Amino acid sequence: MTDIKNVTVLGTGVLGSQIAYQVAFSGFAVTAYDISDEILEKATERFAGLAATYKKDGVAGAADGGADAALGRIRYSSDLADAVRDADLVIEAIPEVLALKQETYEKLGAVAPAKTIFATNSSTLLPSAMKDFTGRPAKFLALHFANRIWISNTAEVMGTPDTDPAVFDEVVAFAGEIGMVAIPIHKEKAGYVLNSLLVPFLGAALELAADGYAEPADIDRVWKIGAGAPLGPFQYYDIIGLTTPYNIMSHGDATARRHAAWLKENYIDKGKLGIASGEGFYTY
Ligand code: NAD
Repeated sequence: MTDIKNVTVLGTGVLGSQIAYQVAFSGFAVTAYDISDEILEKATERFAGLAATYKKDGVAGAADGGADAALGRIRYSSDLADAVRDADLVIEAIPEVLALKQETYEKLGAVAPAKTIFATNSSTLLPSAMKDFTGRPAKFLALHFANRIWISNTAEVMGTPDTDPAVFDEVVAFAGEIGMVAIPIHKEKAGYVLNSLLVPFLGAALELAADGYAEPADIDRVWKIGAGAPLGPFQYYDIIGLTTPYNIMSHGDATARRHAAWLKENYIDKGKLGIASGEGFYTY
């Protein structure tokens, strides 16, 4: 058991709403904070949608009252000082813009009680780039969730050299208390474990297809049969959606830009964007 009872989540977007809801579903008192009451109004719809999804997806305990009870454990606030007034842990899931996060940590550090631990859900920024703005580097670290938290339930925990090891251990334990498989990362690494593996893997697969070595479906077949994996790389592309990898690669080196152009010409320009558009490398 940790000492964490009250949790505040900053940001009620895609991930913030999932994190807040999962924490409430696990029995904790949650405060959802966002920058305006209009946005919080929309957040109530997101939370109701998540309750329905948990039931539909058969999350244990959701159908027999758990999903609805979670909604009753979430309070809403657009006033930062009020939102964090008794928080044991603040999980920040605001946009992936370093200056915005730094500015938010400065404000947060000034109003949060001394006991409060701060955790960032940032996907690509290192916590070291934010720690000095928190006013409490010993109580600051990254706690990184994956999209569709109720199914892809990893929580990568990554500190900075200043993070107190006791705080790190407490957040690892808390991740377990909210149904996550906690993955401790021993030192800072952009991409944590998942994206450190996935990004080069997907890049290698694209090179094989774009440079004409083999067809996407055959590349997937080799990986699935040869490695005994459930999905091939081009199935991941369809799940992620082709636009995000395209945007990343089109700002890369000459090889990455060539691969981005191939993706655009053969798929994106034809409306094949992945599962969301009904067709990508496969038809759905
Ligand atoms: P999003 O754009 O869906 O949501 C961001 C939310 O933050 C919005 O509700 C916005 O109103 C709010 N916001 C903006 N400025 C704010 C401020 N100053 N204070 C409080 N709230 C503010 O973004 P997202 O996809 O949920 O991503 C949020 C964070 O989670 C990012 O750091 C991202 O890297 C990380 N993340 C995203 C995913 C993903 O798959 N989307 C996965 C893992 C981690």
